[in-house]
Amino acid sequence: MTDPDAIPRRPKRRAADPYDELESVLNRNVRGHPRLETYGLTRAGDSRCPRSLLPRRSCKRPTCWCQTRMNDHAATYRTDEGERIVLWEPYQVYPEDLAEVASSAHAEGIDLYLSGQSPYNPGQTLGIYFSRGEPR
Ligand SMILES: [Zn+2]
Repeated sequence: MTDPDAIPRRPKRRAADPYDELESVLNRNVRGHPRLETYGLTRAGDSRCPRSLLPRRSCKRPTCWCQTRMNDHAATYRTDEGERIVLWEPYQVYPEDLAEVASSAHAEGIDLYLSGQSPYNPGQTLGIYFSRGEPR
């Protein structure tokens, strides 16, 4: 028998998904900065587009060259030297994607390099570091 005036019960919480917990731990390690410090990085923003490093230029989604499968686990950081960078940390890099991104970035005065120094899931992802280069 149900009372129509009864206060409805809160729905039961769903059981914790172990994959959600894993994701949460990974994010905490990235956002919580214990690992970032060892790479000389401080998180400075959520922008995933290297064009954000340029004055008066912004992402032209969905046609921007940053819309590539390599743009994974991306964010903006400040280095210990005070330089603002965008870091992508994909699990795979394909030569055709890299060639297109490198060519577009260089045309706009953005430098990039690849590094095994990748705070997101170290040893599994590759760091693609973007910084403002000299104007061309
Ligand atoms: Zn973009």
